[in-house]
Amino acid sequence: MYPTLAKHIESALKNDVCSIGHRGSAFSEIYNATIENIKKIFDVPDGFHVFFLSSGTECMERIIQNCVGKKSFHFVNGAFSKRFYDTAVLLKKTPKKLEVDYGLGFDFAEQAIDEDCELIAVTHNETSSGVMVDLRQVYTLKKNRPNVILAIDAVSSVPYSSFDFDYVDIVFFSVQKGFGMPAGLGVMIVSERAFQKSLRLQLENHVVGTYHSFYALDEKDKKSQTPETPNVLGIYLLGKICADLLERGMESIRRETDERAARLYEILDSHSKLSAFVKNSAIRSKTVIPILTDNGSEEVVGFAKGKGMVLGTGYGPFKKEQLRISNFPSHTPEQFKKLCELLTKIPSKD
Ligand SMILES: *Cc1c(COP(=O)(O)O)cnc(C)c1O
Repeated sequence: MYPTLAKHIESALKNDVCSIGHRGSAFSEIYNATIENIKKIFDVPDGFHVFFLSSGTECMERIIQNCVGKKSFHFVNGAFSKRFYDTAVLLKKTPKKLEVDYGLGFDFAEQAIDEDCELIAVTHNETSSGVMVDLRQVYTLKKNRPNVILAIDAVSSVPYSSFDFDYVDIVFFSVQKGFGMPAGLGVMIVSERAFQKSLRLQLENHVVGTYHSFYALDEKDKKSQTPETPNVLGIYLLGKICADLLERGMESIRRETDERAARLYEILDSHSKLSAFVKNSAIRSKTVIPILTDNGSEEVVGFAKGKGMVLGTGYGPFKKEQLRISNFPSHTPEQFKKLCELLTKIPSKD
């Protein structure tokens, strides 16, 4: 959790945030303040919509419903990018994918994508494998085909990540990873082009969803409200944590993330027992770092536990052999220092 979270939960209770009506001015003020701070963090230009949903997974479904009549294209290199693709299949679209193994990236500029693909889906940071793709390369997809809608899953790269909205139509994330908040809130930034596409699909009789169609979200957004009774507490807390991040300065947060990631990979590259799972340093994630262990993850997790630290294990099939370290702004310098010391002291079995 972000270090100031407890303080903000207390102030929420004190200010009745959990019981205010979601059609009143008190809520609208919270709503506007949070959206304003999100726009500041990511430098979102005028003309983009910001919508609140319930999770990253919900964002995937809403994006397919609202922006794809028939065909989307997905770059798949792990469990979350695969989920986006599977969502399109389940919604009876006919998506295409380029799928590579866990730990690998893509040569975006080289991809021949069918002319009739309406949307391209890219996962900025594949949390299951620790691959972070270079967005400058992703933008070439949009430069080559300005009419396509480019959607970026940024769930585990925010708030570190930044975007060039000249080339991005949709960015979405949830808040329980990089923002260090309780789960239950998704945020989607939507270009006017993507919004208009949704209106066109609706006119053409496509099912674009009900209460969370882009149209329904926008109708309420005009009144600084949401269609449903939203996660008011989550929206409030996100606004407060964004304010804290802005006060620290996004540039310095991004620099610190880079420095910490570099330090972790440096430790791993010279370690006798541990190594980075992603071999190509150009696509190594700055925010989620999977580690190969040579005696299994359990041993290292146990060793860490004895030193008072909880280490995460690898994703799904990699649980037994990998560790995963997150590098988020919520981690204090003391925690990071302790982590580095711990990693360098992993005992040898021999
Ligand atoms: C966690 C995650 C998701 C899913 O987000 P939820 O909020 O759990 O639905 C999607 N994409 C990526 C890259 C993730 O790390």
